Amino acid sequence: MSDTDPMTSVPARAPSTASASRRENSLRTGLSTDRDYGDWRILGSCRNVESSLFFSPEGERGRDRARREAHAKRVCQDCRVLIECREYALAVAEPYGTWGGMSEADRRRRTHRRRRRDARTSAERLL
Ligand code: SF4
Repeated sequence: MSDTDPMTSVPARAPSTASASRRENSLRTGLSTDRDYGDWRILGSCRNVESSLFFSPEGERGRDRARREAHAKRVCQDCRVLIECREYALAVAEPYGTWGGMSEADRRRRTHRRRRRDARTSAERLL
């Protein structure tokens, strides 16, 4: 895949000691939950799919964008690492692309909903 591949666009970071132990576990199971290292990436259904399907080209709007994102989400739908991919994108607040079956807008909405819910819960605790 190209340099803008959703699976390679995030700079690799050296795993910490804690993540190294998770990595051992992931090698045993074949699926990594290590967000720093990201072994799960090599198992993605998008591995051999053109990365432009997952990232919006400059100026893309409306139906074209909706059609491309729907296509990307269909690729994600049966991906064996959908959960790992989604959790990663949410954890790092990935601003671009479709990850784990969620578009940029999907992630923004989810983040806003969670913040509102957390704020409501905090306010209720003060009562
Ligand atoms: S969930 Fe989608 S973006 Fe993530 S690895 Fe799978 S196919 Fe790729």
